Amino acid sequence: MANTGVRIKGKELGMEFEPSINLTGLTANELTTFVCSLGEPAYRARQIFAGVHDRRLRSFADMTDLPSELRGRLTDQSAVATLKVESRYVSTDGTRRYLFKTHDNRPVETVFIPEERRDTICFSSQSGCPLQCTFCLTAQLGLLRNLTAGEIVEQVIFALNDAYGVGVKPPRGTNLVGMGAGEPFLNFDALIKAIRIMAEPSGLHIVPNRVTVSTAGIVPRILELAAIPDRPHLAVSLAAPNDELRDELMPINKKWPLRELLSACKEFERSLRPNERMTFEYVMLADVNDADEQARQLANLLNRYDLRAKVNLIPHNQAEPLPYHPSPPARVETFREILESKGIHAFVRRPRGRDILAACGQLAARSQAHPSQQSDNF
Ligand code: SF4
Repeated sequence: MANTGVRIKGKELGMEFEPSINLTGLTANELTTFVCSLGEPAYRARQIFAGVHDRRLRSFADMTDLPSELRGRLTDQSAVATLKVESRYVSTDGTRRYLFKTHDNRPVETVFIPEERRDTICFSSQSGCPLQCTFCLTAQLGLLRNLTAGEIVEQVIFALNDAYGVGVKPPRGTNLVGMGAGEPFLNFDALIKAIRIMAEPSGLHIVPNRVTVSTAGIVPRILELAAIPDRPHLAVSLAAPNDELRDELMPINKKWPLRELLSACKEFERSLRPNERMTFEYVMLADVNDADEQARQLANLLNRYDLRAKVNLIPHNQAEPLPYHPSPPARVETFREILESKGIHAFVRRPRGRDILAACGQLAARSQAHPSQQSDNF
């Protein structure tokens, strides 16, 4: 990010961006407003938008279709890449974890997961997280701050460039999941804006139908999401089949208990498209929430609300110093079978990137390398 020259603050354009404008977080219309404020024609905005989101360039110097004088002014007054890569880890299974720092030195983590049919990028919506799920390492950071829309989009651009090369079209297409650090629904506006920017056909063109956001259960936002016509898919993290245990594992449950959460999901169901289901995630913690009786309770709970949903069982990933252990595979399978026997579609999520601390619940902005990690410090 340049530190010289005159800076036009986002506020002057009716936008909130500090300390300088991150153009990666502007919609095509906002970018046009910004470019016109520089006395440039609107088509320059289209060139810049394509440069950032289609060609995935991370500096104005590389946008050689722009006059060099304009590139200089853009560099002085704005930025397209504000995240700095601190570390990059590559798992034996191909999963990659990136640890970035924001301009104000906050950690941001992103995970790229290659899959046979389609790659998945798991992005963070906050630096740290204010919720205190006891099975999650991110919780220990507390909330450092919300990420901007630009910081969310940058994570995806960087991961795609790293996996395939700058601007190279991903061969298998890309799914996005908002399941990294943070509670996405506590940064709702930036999240939705980032998803819209990434959906632009002249840019990344990752449509909302390829995006899933996961909430710990922020009930008002579930209802708000339902009202958005081009919304992403919804996943809700349950982790427990009753309020008593969920209060303990996910304290947000004390504010919005299961009755309110599942009623909101029932309301959300009305917005489901044909063949769409919502997802419930259930992290499997050995001897805590993985008993046969708890599987039956979970099935009964979901059947009571008769939801068009599936359950993803996520074997817990060892995350010291947390006092939990993964449920053994046979236990996970039995749990799944009980759910299925009661008419609940249930799947076991294959853990990815465990050796590089990239799996669910393991993101804690740790930069020291585990012995099995390969680390490239940029
Ligand atoms: S599980 Fe998600 S919502 Fe809960 S503390 Fe971790 S990052 Fe936050």
